[in-house]
Amino acid sequence: MNKSITKVATADMESLYRIFTVAEAPDSTLGQIEKEISENLAGFLNEHIVARAVSLAEIERDFSCADMPEQPTFVSEHTQFLLDKLVANSVHTAAPSFIGHMTSALPYFMLPLSKIMIALNQNLVKIETSKAFTPLERQVLGIMHNLVFGQNEQFYQTYMHSESDSLGAFCSGGTLANITALWVARNNLLKANNQFKGVNREGMYRALNHYGYQGVAILVSNRGHYSLGKAADVLGIGRDDLIAVEVDATHKVLVDEMRTKAAELEEQGIKVMAIVGVAGTTETGNVDPLNDLADLAEQLSCHFHVDAAWGGATLFSKAHKALLKGIERADSVTIDAHKQMYVPMGAGIVLFKQPKLASEIEHHAEYVLRKGSKDLGSHTLEGSRPGMAMLVYSALKVLGRKGYELLINRSIKQAEYFAGLISQQADFELVSKPELCILTYRYVPQSVKALLAKADLNQQKRINEKLDDLTRFIQKCQREAGKSFVSRTRLTSNLYPEQTITVFRVVLANPLTTEQILQDVLAEQAELAQLSQFALPALKQILAESAR
Ligand SMILES: *Cc1c(COP(=O)(O)O)cnc(C)c1O
Repeated sequence: MNKSITKVATADMESLYRIFTVAEAPDSTLGQIEKEISENLAGFLNEHIVARAVSLAEIERDFSCADMPEQPTFVSEHTQFLLDKLVANSVHTAAPSFIGHMTSALPYFMLPLSKIMIALNQNLVKIETSKAFTPLERQVLGIMHNLVFGQNEQFYQTYMHSESDSLGAFCSGGTLANITALWVARNNLLKANNQFKGVNREGMYRALNHYGYQGVAILVSNRGHYSLGKAADVLGIGRDDLIAVEVDATHKVLVDEMRTKAAELEEQGIKVMAIVGVAGTTETGNVDPLNDLADLAEQLSCHFHVDAAWGGATLFSKAHKALLKGIERADSVTIDAHKQMYVPMGAGIVLFKQPKLASEIEHHAEYVLRKGSKDLGSHTLEGSRPGMAMLVYSALKVLGRKGYELLINRSIKQAEYFAGLISQQADFELVSKPELCILTYRYVPQSVKALLAKADLNQQKRINEKLDDLTRFIQKCQREAGKSFVSRTRLTSNLYPEQTITVFRVVLANPLTTEQILQDVLAEQAELAQLSQFALPALKQILAESAR
């Protein structure tokens, strides 16, 4: 290793200048890290390993010194440490057997393009630091707006690059996108009029007083993402005023329930600020009846937001986009490009149907974001921001709508395959059928299944609690073994409506995941179940009791 090139190890200016000017030698450990990561991106086709079987406590020991490093160190030495301790123990989210979360494999070109993005280090908050990137970001917002709302060409020619309008905003993810959308909704509801200067200037207390509201509320199904709770919190609405509405057996919000809830709230003087439809629930991947929700929002004259962080990309598929019918009637829509658009993390998008809608969150400052400038920062919650638009744009261009369509269709088809496979197993139970590419299930030995079917509520509850233990046990063992990964969650299912149960959750978005891998995942789980020292014996005991 050539230390003279990678050198920084003395605290003198000469050495420090070098790290800002000298490129890393290709044979250094940085090169090794890149190679390792590229292999990761290639998908561990032959050996699907998700993570090394090292305990978290062991890893924590490598990262537990709180002393500020005093002396500079050689880059080569430092990267060797990274390679051994950090990269080696990272989770291979790109592995085709990693099917538990929404983070999946990335197209290979994302890695070199990200390097270019970082080399350019454009700051999208203002034109002065992002010439070319700002128009690009506006174009990407235009393309995504067009995908969702499909306005005519004239519309996009008028608004795409207009400094006083905004078709949407880029942000770090779905959480920020949801907060931004509800921020816009709040400021529009409680905007300036008469002597009142607007909630953005006078705050919630005076805004509510001025408008004569006892409070404001947001309605969403009880499958809504937790980021909405954060939004209600930071916007001064209060988490308790994010009202969770019941869902039906397919995890879709009961619109009549929501209508009733809204009427109750308004009777108490609480104004419904927004209703939120979910297009792709995080746990089960279901889509709310968006058209019905749009009707309700019209009746209530409130903001209609659609959280399509996960499911938005379904619009690329001609075969499946009808699932999202009604999304085009939303006032705002969240889409995460870092989920089913296969862009690296940090790429959330919020879109506004009306280009003037975001004017209520407009913010100006003298040294940047001057009035009349095209600075994107005047309509974003975040300040300094990277040029992620380049990566989204590249994915859109390289894959094209047709490419995305193939990926989306494949994911849904594979989820259907896996659901079918689970249903065929004597010892498994499909809990939620996939609508998009997410499903939930659990391991239930055939004999227990038979008992559950004839058990009364009390006994069902007892059995399900033991099954919860078993599911947790299997999921943890599988994760620790590191060959494959599914996640777990707790939910109510129409199978056992009286209680919440623990289930495996699977997200099938990695195009490299094969049917064989899915078969292996089930086989491994069935094997692991036999190792359970408490849950399985407890179930056997219940079986023995009931046989008496
Ligand atoms: C992932 C997700 C979010 C949050 O997005 P982040 O990018 O994790 O901040 C919000 N809503 C839904 C439905 C999601 O799936």
